[in-house]
Amino acid sequence: MSALTDLYQQLILDHNKSPRNRRKLEPADGRAEGYNPLCGDRVTVYLSLDGDVVRDIAFEGSGCAISTAAASMMTQRLKGKSVSEAKSLFEKFRRLLTDEHGVGDGGPELGKLEAFGGVRRFPARVKCATLVWHTLNAALENREDIVSTE
Ligand code: ZN
Repeated sequence: MSALTDLYQQLILDHNKSPRNRRKLEPADGRAEGYNPLCGDRVTVYLSLDGDVVRDIAFEGSGCAISTAAASMMTQRLKGKSVSEAKSLFEKFRRLLTDEHGVGDGGPELGKLEAFGGVRRFPARVKCATLVWHTLNAALENREDIVSTE
């Protein structure tokens, strides 16, 4: 195992142990719930928007280490970013987890989110990492139904 992989694992474990932005946000401009029946992960995403900019973002929920760390790191990454930047980050993040050819060029930098690259080797866990992003999409549209990864 390389030192980099080790560092990435530490990052995920740290965010699982002390999740950032895990709280309720009220009133919220957008709110959505997500559920991953494959693993049992549940997450609620709260959004506060200032025009096209994510002014504040938070989450609540319970799930495995990967889903909790993904929610923590996503909220940390998206605060202050525009909605379109958030959407292209999701696209890039999804490619990081599913596309063996890599994330391609251009677009916003994944930064620390690259820590989830190793999850690609465990297809059953990919939904744990993407659940919170799917839920974010729903929160941006303020959808009431529960997002399921199935
Ligand atoms: Zn999970």
